[in-house]
Amino acid sequence: METVRICRLGNLPPSLFRRLYDAQVEAARVWSLCRDIHLEARRQGTRWPNRDDLQKATKGRFALHSQTVQMICHAFLANVETTRQWKRQHPQLRYPYKDKWFYPLLWPAQAIGVAPGRVVLPMGRGRRSVVLRVEVPENAGACKIVWSNGYELHVSVPVVPAEAPPGTARATADLGQIHQAAVTTDTGAALVVSGRGIRSAKRWLHQAFGEIAKQRSRCKQGSRHWRKLQRARGKVSARVERQVRDLRHKGMRKVVEFCKQHGVGRLYVGNPDGVRARSAGRHHNQRMSQWEYGRDIDYLAHKSEQSRIVCFTGTERGTSSRCPECGHRQRPKGRAWVCNNCGFRGHRDVVGSANMHPIAYGEKIEFPQRITYLRPGPVQGSGGGMKNCPRSQEPERSSCPDTGHGEGVTARLHPCCPGEFADQPPAVGSRRARASQEAGHTAEVA
Ligand SMILES: [Zn+2]
Repeated sequence: METVRICRLGNLPPSLFRRLYDAQVEAARVWSLCRDIHLEARRQGTRWPNRDDLQKATKGRFALHSQTVQMICHAFLANVETTRQWKRQHPQLRYPYKDKWFYPLLWPAQAIGVAPGRVVLPMGRGRRSVVLRVEVPENAGACKIVWSNGYELHVSVPVVPAEAPPGTARATADLGQIHQAAVTTDTGAALVVSGRGIRSAKRWLHQAFGEIAKQRSRCKQGSRHWRKLQRARGKVSARVERQVRDLRHKGMRKVVEFCKQHGVGRLYVGNPDGVRARSAGRHHNQRMSQWEYGRDIDYLAHKSEQSRIVCFTGTERGTSSRCPECGHRQRPKGRAWVCNNCGFRGHRDVVGSANMHPIAYGEKIEFPQRITYLRPGPVQGSGGGMKNCPRSQEPERSSCPDTGHGEGVTARLHPCCPGEFADQPPAVGSRRARASQEAGHTAEVA
């Protein structure tokens, strides 16, 4: 198994930056050549080029390491193959046809050199290698340099999966926006991981965007100040994107840790595809389209594979609108699920998750009495509103802040209190101040 380590390459010397830039342009030329050869074969109706054809055609023609060129050819062929497979279902898909101006730089494991504190990436015979001062594990595999509002080095690192599954218990996970995940096991335990940190970060980003837009509306389009603000916008946007990615990973890690603790061997993840396909009004549709549950499913699948937990997805249709006690159907309102028929009261997302057990394993479970509330963890680095939130220092609490559902075993308080935490974190003012300060600051420097 492999996992990917991401290192930001901040503060590169201008000459190195320029070299990476030129190399990316060169890599894009490799791609375009592959595209031309493939396009020609399609037009002429001749045999499509394979690996050997592309490698022969690109050999020795580019200012890159030979294996970098080969990997781009392989990536191109993989792209063609994927399109071919999907074309039957989606006839509107096209084979690669666009010109590329930049392409990530790739190196296979055998091409790179790793020493303590640095990575050596060869650029081909007769050219100086790129040396990056980053700490990567000794057993690092393939490397990739990508642009994501700044250069990043992606290193593939092998991980040793667990020897045996943690147990034989079965669990279901309900993904959501307000709560990233709600998990119930058939051993009577439940976990709720808050998603409010993610929503709060996104909301803050949109406020920062508004602030920058206001400043930009006062200057001429394309002017120096306008371009500086554009850069500042990219910077905050990239930072929040990284924070959100970090929180998503941490949230899903909490789910897997919980499953390991409770000896879970099989995990069913409800796939909200059906819910999302349905049109439900402008505002709701926007909320649904901004919800990146596909990533959560990916992260969860990858992390549970490492722990030898079988993770599989399936429908979650109707799970949130049924009473887990009497089966009565109703539209849930608010965060607590209160049954109009039998008076049952429980956490809304845990209800959804508990209702998945009959779909996934064909067996109803008792509604869990013990619910653990966790949040993914404070935002890493600067600008984290959660770090400054007085609630994050609060001691343990035994009931859900949402529903008042008691008897919860709380490892760390989860701030899922609506409004208070998500919408007016005490740090918003200071964060907003930071945004405008940053905009102004970069304006001065750049
Ligand atoms: Zn009921």
